[in-house]
Formats: sequence, structure tokens, C-alpha cells
Amino acid sequence: MLTRIAGGRVIDPANGRDGVGDIWISGGRIVEPPQGARAEATYDAAGKIVLAGAIDIHSHIAGWNVNTARLLLPEYHAVAEPRPSVTAASRIGLNSHATGCLYAAMGFTTVVEPAMSPHQALQTHLELADIPIIDKGALVILGNDDYLLGLLHAKEGEAAVADYVAWNLDASRSLGIKVVNAGGAAAFKENVRSFSFDDVVPSYGLSSRSILKSLQRAVNGLGVPHPLHVHCNNLGLAGNAETALTTISAAEGLPLHLAHLQFYGYGKEGERGFSSAAAPVAEAVNATPSVTIDVGQVMFGQTVTISSDVLRQFNARNQARPRKWVIFDGDSNGAGIVPYDYRRNDFYNAVQWAVGLELFLLISDPWRVFLTTDHPNGAHFATYPEIFALLMSRDLRAQWLAELPPAAVAVTTLPSIAREYSLVEIATMTRAAPAKLLGLADRGHLGAGAVGDVAVYENDPDRAKMFRAAALVFKDGELVVRDGEVVSYRWGRALTVRPDRDRAIDRRMRAYYEDRYGLSDELFRVPEHALSRPEPFELVPCAR
Ligand SMILES: [Zn+2]
Repeated sequence: MLTRIAGGRVIDPANGRDGVGDIWISGGRIVEPPQGARAEATYDAAGKIVLAGAIDIHSHIAGWNVNTARLLLPEYHAVAEPRPSVTAASRIGLNSHATGCLYAAMGFTTVVEPAMSPHQALQTHLELADIPIIDKGALVILGNDDYLLGLLHAKEGEAAVADYVAWNLDASRSLGIKVVNAGGAAAFKENVRSFSFDDVVPSYGLSSRSILKSLQRAVNGLGVPHPLHVHCNNLGLAGNAETALTTISAAEGLPLHLAHLQFYGYGKEGERGFSSAAAPVAEAVNATPSVTIDVGQVMFGQTVTISSDVLRQFNARNQARPRKWVIFDGDSNGAGIVPYDYRRNDFYNAVQWAVGLELFLLISDPWRVFLTTDHPNGAHFATYPEIFALLMSRDLRAQWLAELPPAAVAVTTLPSIAREYSLVEIATMTRAAPAKLLGLADRGHLGAGAVGDVAVYENDPDRAKMFRAAALVFKDGELVVRDGEVVSYRWGRALTVRPDRDRAIDRRMRAYYEDRYGLSDELFRVPEHALSRPEPFELVPCAR
């Protein structure tokens, strides 16, 4: 079917386009305007904003951790009749069906689950496959696993590490590699309770830095498009901007992505020993072109923190609101589920909110800073429209600041920042840049050959309203959302990479699982036939 989206303002930063025009779609892909052909379906976009489908690079939407949060907090489920009906938590939606619908309604068409345990990959993919409409990808977590740490301890060399990384990407059908508090979870198993970048995992004699650098080189050497995705040490601690700065300087010219940097933007100034250090962190990011970051913005309200940083979650468990939590010190990374309520009148929470916005506004290149709330850790992803509005209006930020504790505002630079994001910058940050960061050449733009993922918005001065409910959303050329309501369901795919490897690693892994655990490695691989969807996976090419 030949579809025409007619006469909207097309903003397509990847192709340098910003002007009124048409978008044509045929066979699920964007095509050049056909000469003399008549569209079979025409959608009037006059006066509206036309963007590619948005891409979220870091949102916890499936897998063991998310499921444990669901099971811990039945009251959080967005069901037709919430139970109990009036808790603050009942506003939070963690169910798979709602995830696909809410993302689609906002014009998001691709979402990356950033924390898949290698041994829970099948469960994660079963859940991802159950999320309607959007395409997905997953990052698999390495860096606290016995096999890798054993390789590094034995000084087996870069080729051995690269083969192991490639084997994991293939076995778990992942789009990239994440490292969470490198070595910290392994040290936690030996009763270490604080772990920094140059601290050493006792039994393996490896520093966090050495683990991170090994993985970074392996990912880069394999030609995996997405750089090593790093959750740094010391998440959430006063003074941890030092950790962020040290990690940024360790990039050493190679690509490195730092996740939810807001949680590492803290100084120790002021009466309470807690302040924003977003300005020096942003300055370091600006000065380090090989580093990209996502923010992990905090928004006020009830949520639940879900993290494979078992050491930090263990230390934070007593701050649970409501008072219940799960700490799982098993597998390689383990995990922690700690519900949390970010309060507008809480000094620390107010500083956290400001730090996120400072990072957005002080990092100058919209190709290197990405919108995330680290869903659901900083806030539910459904708060994105409010964040767009805050980034686009200094006046709106001033209104929010006026309601925060003045002592908190005083230890941030947010009131002094005049910058307002343009629609072009929003489109870059949420479309063009994430596609480039993930190596998705046919996404995030509206040029011929791109997938037919298009979001059309009313050009409403109320930017939150505009981005909350897209006027039209097309997925692979099919209309799936009209006026913020899902009008058609479809099943997306999971994006994966499969870099080349020396197949000797396959035999080694089989022997490792059999010798160490008496299990077949097949139990941890994700077979295509396990997913009851047609063509459940899409292979993204690696650079070599
Ligand atoms: Zn995360």
C-alpha cells in the first residue's frame, strides 16, 4: 500500500531536513516521492510536526528483575480496576501490554531493555515478545561473571575475551553489552559493601577499571555498534561525581556509554553534604567526544528501583518506600528491587531532579545526551512528555523550582540555565542520535529506505500534551495510533547483533557449564523456535 503523510513540518535531523513536505511509505518502508503515483491512503498532517518513531535506549521493561518487582508490588499493576484502587502506586504501570501501548501513544517505536542477565535471556525474550507494537532490543550484562573474571585473572588475552563476549551476544540474542558496577557484585559476594573504580575484587585480583577496559576493548574490537554500556560504581552516593569523572577519563578515546548519569552527578557541598555536581560532569562529557550518556531523570512520585547493582541496592534497602524489598545475590550480578517514592518536598529528591535537568541542558551536543528516566528507577517512562516540556521552557522550570525546598535549589545551577531545547534538538536526542548510537541505520530518520516508523504530533504549545498523545503513529507503515489511542496491534521484533567469533569458544562454554554446573549450555541459549512470533529477531550488522 502506498501511503502519504501530507503537508506536515518534517523534522529529520539525520538528513538535515526541516520544512513542510510529504512522507511516502510503501511496503513498510519510507520511499522517495513516487512520480505521478496516487496514494492509496493520505493522512493530512498540515500544521503538525512529523518525526521518525522515537527510540528509547534504556528502559527496564522485561526480565527477571522487572518481574520480581511486579510480584513484589501487585498494587503497582495498571489493571482495569486497580487494586487497591487508591494507592499512589496504582498509577504506575509495569505490565507488558501497557508498556507497548504507552510507548506507541507517545510515538516511540523501538525500546531497549538494558539489563538482561545472560542466564535469564530466554525469559526476557519471552516477555519482550509479549509487548505489542514496538520493536525491542536487550543489552546483556557481563562484568561480574565467573567465566569472564576467570579469563582476566588467567591473563588469557584480548582475543579470548572478545570470543566470550561474542558468544554471549549470540547465545542471549542481545544488541550490546552492559556492565553494572564492574566487579562490585562479585566483591559483594565476599561481603564487600563499598566498591570504587580502582578497588579490587578479592578472589580474582581484578580492579573495576581493568574489567571495564577489557569489555570496552572487546565490544569495540568486535565492531558491535553500541559502545560498552556502563553503570558506574557508587550509584546514588554523595560525592560520586568523582566516580563519573574518573570513568569518563578512562574512555581513553574509545566509545563508552554512561547510563543514567544523573545518579552520578552528586557533590558534597552545603550543610547536608549533598549538592549538584552536574556542571563539572557535563563539562567533562562536553570535552570527551567518545563518551555518550543518558540521563536517568528523576520525576516526583511513587516508583520502584530495579537494578542489577546488588551492592548498592543492598545498601539502599532500608530506604524502601513502601517497606519491602528483594535482594538477590545469585547469578553473576544478582539484583535488587527497592520501591521508592521521590518527593517534591524532600531535599535530596529535589536535588536529584535538578541534576538530571542540568545534565540535559549543560551537555551541549544533542547527539551525545539521551532521554531516559532509567524507567522505572528515576520515574516511569510515561513522564517523558513532562520532561520534554521542562527542557523546552525555562519558564516552566522556574515554576517547578518555585515549589522545591529553597535549600535544595541553592545547591544546583538549574535556575541560572537559560537554554531551551528546540524541536530539532528533541528530534535529534530521541530519534537520530539513538539510531546512530545503536547502529540502526534504517531507524531514527525519514529518508528513503528507513522503516516506516513515523510519529505525527499536533504543534501544541503545551509540549507535554503534544508528546503524550501523538496524533498519528505508523509502525512499519501501518497506522497503530490515532489521537493517542492505539487503533491497531502488531508484534514487533527484537534487534540483535552476532559478531564473528572463533568457534572454539562454543566448545569451551559447553565444557564450562557441564564441568562447573552439570548443565548443558543449551539451557541458556535463546532458540528462535521458543518465541511464537513470525520472524522474532532482526540482525543488526556489526562493523567487522
Ligand atoms: Zn537501568
